[in-house]
Amino acid sequence: MIPFFDGHNDLLLKMSLGRVTAEEVRDGHANGHIDLPRARSGGLGGGFFALYVPTPGATAMDIEAMRQDSYDLPLPAPVDQAHALDRVRTGIGHFRRLAELDIITPCTTAAEVEAALPGPTLAAVLHMEGAEAIGPDLSELDELQAAGLRSIGPVWSRPTIHGHGVPFRYPATSDIGPGLTAAGKALVRECNRRRIMVDLSHLNMAGLRDVAEISDAPLVATHSNAHAITPSARCLTDEELRLIAATDGLVGINFGTCFLRPDGKFIADCPIEHLLRHLDHLLSILGEDGVAFGSDFDGAVLPDWMGDCGGLFRLREGLVRHGIDPPLLEKLAHRNWLRVMRATWSA
Ligand SMILES: [Zn+2]
Repeated sequence: MIPFFDGHNDLLLKMSLGRVTAEEVRDGHANGHIDLPRARSGGLGGGFFALYVPTPGATAMDIEAMRQDSYDLPLPAPVDQAHALDRVRTGIGHFRRLAELDIITPCTTAAEVEAALPGPTLAAVLHMEGAEAIGPDLSELDELQAAGLRSIGPVWSRPTIHGHGVPFRYPATSDIGPGLTAAGKALVRECNRRRIMVDLSHLNMAGLRDVAEISDAPLVATHSNAHAITPSARCLTDEELRLIAATDGLVGINFGTCFLRPDGKFIADCPIEHLLRHLDHLLSILGEDGVAFGSDFDGAVLPDWMGDCGGLFRLREGLVRHGIDPPLLEKLAHRNWLRVMRATWSA
């Protein structure tokens, strides 16, 4: 079975919120999308594990609002840096606990990911979604990189000292608001120098252009879909996709139904044909080496036919039915991620 390497999951957030324990992830549970038994049956070989800090006191994302014909969710308030750093350290503690229990193998190189992909543990790369924990002098990067951090999204959707993200708005373009601040540009420059991946998902169009200008690494959106199919602010326009393609970059297809369904509705009824339309569109611009998957497991409403990571075998079957041959299937499942990790981290 060809294993999937996945561009984005929110398991560490789920653990930080106390909704699932490391032991449950090892033994199996019904509180989310990822555990080891389901990963093995579905063929999930590993992925990026996100550190994300919720705004204190903010209410959960209004899923009901995202089931209407159009929506524009208010973004939560910015997060204080000291609080963010504290919560990020807690998330790193959960990452270490997963490793102690032989659920994951922490990886910092493409070779380590490739070696760990077949199992029995998950090949795990530490990612940070929203750089609130990092202050203007960037000194926190030493500690975070030493802890294994290999990828940073300068913003989740709410504003930070680094820049502005896209709102959860439908229908809408991603061309909303200014790009990176001076602090954000310095962060991208420093990530580039340290060979840390910069994630474009959640950035607006101006921010994406800023990263394209600064970075000499392939441009990567770990969990984003095609705006031409689903006109959500979170999806990538053809212009953005062409910028990514020009750097031999990569886009990981998000399984969140609000980014798969053309009507942007966050409901589980979402036939695989929607995902295949995004796949075909992304392939037409990025080519066979530029498309992969970025599930958003534990952070999104998934299509009912997939359910959780145990349902990945149905995606594999659907891709084969769609005419994807074994070499391309292997690229989409993990080879393209390995290529971009190698190009970004070891240059
Ligand atoms: Zn996200």
